[in-house]
Amino acid sequence: MQKNLKNSIFHIDERGYYGEYGGAFIPEILHENIEELQKVYRSIIEGKEFIDQYNRFLHDYVGRPSPLYFAQRLSHKYNCRIYMKREDLNHTGSHKINNALGQIILARRIGKTRIVAETGAGQHGLASATVCSLMNMNCVIYMGKTDIDRQKLNVRKMELLGAKVVPVTSGNMTLKDATNEAIRDWSSNPDDTYYVIGSVVGPHPYPDLVSRLQSVISKEIKLQLIKKEGRNYPDFLIACIGGGSNAAGTIYEYIDDNRVKIILAEAAGKGIYSGKSAATIHLGKIGVLHGYKTLVMQTVDGQIEEAYSISAGLDYPGIGPMHACMAKLGRNEVLAINDEEALSAAMELTRLEGIIPALESAHALGVLQKKQFKVDDVIVICLSGRGDKDMEVYIKSIQ
Ligand SMILES: *Cc1c(COP(=O)(O)O)cnc(C)c1O
Repeated sequence: MQKNLKNSIFHIDERGYYGEYGGAFIPEILHENIEELQKVYRSIIEGKEFIDQYNRFLHDYVGRPSPLYFAQRLSHKYNCRIYMKREDLNHTGSHKINNALGQIILARRIGKTRIVAETGAGQHGLASATVCSLMNMNCVIYMGKTDIDRQKLNVRKMELLGAKVVPVTSGNMTLKDATNEAIRDWSSNPDDTYYVIGSVVGPHPYPDLVSRLQSVISKEIKLQLIKKEGRNYPDFLIACIGGGSNAAGTIYEYIDDNRVKIILAEAAGKGIYSGKSAATIHLGKIGVLHGYKTLVMQTVDGQIEEAYSISAGLDYPGIGPMHACMAKLGRNEVLAINDEEALSAAMELTRLEGIIPALESAHALGVLQKKQFKVDDVIVICLSGRGDKDMEVYIKSIQ
């Protein structure tokens, strides 16, 4: 039996596994980089110098703490107490910057000068390009051509910030393919380059590193709930999952608190069994993808299946190993929300609360129509991003 950090089965063990998921499966050439990172990441991010710099930028640059907003009209409609954790109000419009900022400070500490990153909807690419400009680092973003076509505004922003955006034309030209190319680049430039992964995925230590950086979300929820509800925990936490980083941040402080129920929303696309979905936890089988072992959408002979979702940030055929482990042990409940349900939840929030959510976050909101809650249930939904980047889809959907 391996010893788990924090003595919790939902945190990594000494080999970087969550139960049977996780680990590091990487090309020989990256061994030195990954080993160095495994050795130093915790002492750096738990050190006073890092914490001071990180917290200062989170406060003055990102705009944290993000508000915990009581959604009165939505609460009235669903007959319970609904709060939104407003990650959409962060600089660059999503939770991604919490992670990008932390990893780029870390990259500088270990002497790297060049950053590569993958991006789907462009939010992680945008956050990375932004922080690279802030910290004077070279930045190369890999992005699938399909995503470049549907997220033009974010591409222009990244270029304006000085990043090089490289179009990826393999596979179905989305996040999975962009990730392959970013790892390939890193393997060719291991000396000066640091790979900023955008979610709780990839080889150990990335899932744990990214979870810790995003945990600021649940640390704030704890403090904010005391003021608003007189207790520091909700009855339910709800978040959407692509790779699972906004969810990991939202649940981190509550993972071992069984009073708190966790509901995650994955993208069912045109329907779980339609052949056009990204419902990895429903459909996945154990396999290795992008350097870690997890549930992977794959054919019977082990070929990775292309994932589909209306939202460019959720169409990923894998899932963070922490969530796979928690699903297997029944610690979370995973619902699959399809394109239509997400769109209607997005419109509902827009009209009831005056907040246009990102399409990804709309999947978390879609849970409200599928679950019954009690009148005094306190529910916190992570509103992972704002809808500016999705305006074309929204406009088309109401025409
Ligand atoms: C990237 C993104 C997601 C999905 O990524 P996770 O790692 O699962 O959080 C969700 N919401 C928004 C707004 C995003 O930009």
